[in-house]
Amino acid sequence: MLKSTDVFVVGGGPAGLAAGIAARQSGLRVAVADGAQAPIDKTCGEGLMPDGLLALQGLGITLKPGDGYPFRGIRFLNSSLSADALFPSGGVGLAVRRTTLHRILADRAADAGVEFLWQTPVTGISGEEVQLGDRTVRARWIVGADGVNSRVRGWAGLSLRTRTDLRYAFRQHYRVRPWSDHMEIYAESAVRVMPRQLAMKKSAWLWPRTMRSCESNRLWRRFPHSTRGFAAQKSSRPNAVRLPQTAR
Ligand SMILES: Cc1cc2nc3c(=O)[nH]c(=O)nc-3n(C[C@H](O)[C@H](O)[C@H](O)COP(=O)(O)OP(=O)(O)OC[C@H]3O[C@@H](n4cnc5c(N)ncnc54)[C@H](O)[C@@H]3O)c2cc1C
Repeated sequence: MLKSTDVFVVGGGPAGLAAGIAARQSGLRVAVADGAQAPIDKTCGEGLMPDGLLALQGLGITLKPGDGYPFRGIRFLNSSLSADALFPSGGVGLAVRRTTLHRILADRAADAGVEFLWQTPVTGISGEEVQLGDRTVRARWIVGADGVNSRVRGWAGLSLRTRTDLRYAFRQHYRVRPWSDHMEIYAESAVRVMPRQLAMKKSAWLWPRTMRSCESNRLWRRFPHSTRGFAAQKSSRPNAVRLPQTAR
């Protein structure tokens, strides 16, 4: 059983796994703990920007064409206008299913020698110790990568403020032929549509600013005309998340 390590990473999402791989590349012993079991899904837009792909390369990860669907820029639309731009210098982003990204990062971290503690919630930190329920692990460095509602931030006394106003995000994947090589953001209805590969999928976002209900079926009625056509072809269950107003 793990008693001590150089770096203890709390949270095994993309940030925690990336931090773990980078620390291993520097020759440090690393443990990553997450309360969930890999591969971890999350309500996320699933778009990797060109800079993100470069950062992954630095961690020894090159995503293959079959891992996702490339997009060359971003387009904003409302009922009467659209504006788009290509990424600078011919850069290309990649729409990747979150579970695929997580699996690839976790595999690379395992190859690099990161020790995983899945289904292991961290319950506190103090000095150079991390608490995992009734056991502790000593660490020279503790990395808080536990997401937007980070408890590590609070335990470390870094919480700046608490906000009570919330936003709600819903994600749904559809099986349709991609019609665009841009990520599309529908401004009026707060819908974001990502071209996706894998048997012609798109993932769609609803990001209402005012809704107080997480009842996603009602929200689909607010879809723009171009996406209503594939409402009958859903390829995944909707995911929902509630966010502090500041989260992006
Ligand atoms: C609606 C929405 C859309 C987004 N769209 C995009 C996008 O298109 N492209 C993009 O790049 N980013 C997008 N993001 C942002 C992206 O999802 C986050 O930046 C990313 O998930 C952050 O990764 P993370 O590892 O910091 O946190 P998370 O992915 O939240 O991972 C945190 C992990 O910590 C674990 N954890 C929490 N507390 C503990 C604890 N006490 N003990 C152990 N484990 C713990 C959780 O189980 C979780 O696995 C979006 C975010 C939202 C909310």
